[in-house]
Amino acid sequence: MTRPERPHALVTGGGSGIGLAVARALAEGGARLSLVGRDAAKIASAAKAIGDACPISADVTDEAAIHAAFEAARATHGPIDILISNAGAAPSAPFRDTDLTLWNATLAVNLTGAFLCARAALPHMLQSKWGRIVNVASVAGLKGYAYVSAYCAAKHGLVGLTRALAQETAKHGVTVNAVCPGYVETEIVTESIARLTRKTTLDETTARASLVAFNPQGRMISAREVAAMIAWLCGEDAAAINGAAIPITGGEI
Ligand code: NAD
Repeated sequence: MTRPERPHALVTGGGSGIGLAVARALAEGGARLSLVGRDAAKIASAAKAIGDACPISADVTDEAAIHAAFEAARATHGPIDILISNAGAAPSAPFRDTDLTLWNATLAVNLTGAFLCARAALPHMLQSKWGRIVNVASVAGLKGYAYVSAYCAAKHGLVGLTRALAQETAKHGVTVNAVCPGYVETEIVTESIARLTRKTTLDETTARASLVAFNPQGRMISAREVAAMIAWLCGEDAAAINGAAIPITGGEI
């Protein structure tokens, strides 16, 4: 099968940051969009900004809510051809303060959420012999960072899930890939900078500079740059890219 003319793309965490930029890029390429996120108001305003997008409020860690969200998406735009598992959160804490609650919550949103969404989307993709799954991992899925052990473990897990699932879908026209950005100018990074200024002696400019310093290009990456790579992975030209974990880092890794 080839790519449907107007594929149905479902983006989790589609109300802000990378998710919203991806939704825009896919819509520009002709896709019909469903946006899933926890914050109903944010999702509704993002869907309105895109135009013909279906806003769905759901928590990706809740299996029943994800089942209902995919049903609602299918009722609006038909079966899902493209899944972008982007919802995530990056709480930070030294390992000694990383308790089981923080650990479980971080794995739930960054790893289990993508697992639940892939399970919900895959049957139709396998049946129609065409599909694209892109998991938004992180450079923290490819190397270690201090003070985010749960996030690093979750994103490494997401890269592992991507690589394993790609082997299972390879003969069925479905590709499964991960993108692994460095620091991207979004709310997650704004929160990280605020946390650094609260917990250290750094002021905002120095805290920002300490994050930018990870990127050899000496800058934050834009959500648009990440979205452009994801949109390309969802196209016909990327049919041979499968099981990849693509760094978008300015050379950090
Ligand atoms: P963001 O905070 O703008 O986006 C995260 C989105 O996920 C938000 O819209 C939030 O409402 C949604 N979300 C969080 N928990 C959810 C849940 N349980 N159910 C449903 N939706 C939920 O930040 P972003 O930077 O755009 O993050 C998007 C993805 O990119 C995340 O997976 C993040 O880990 C990853 N990432 C971000 C950076 C960065 O520097 N910004 C770098 C690498 C990877």
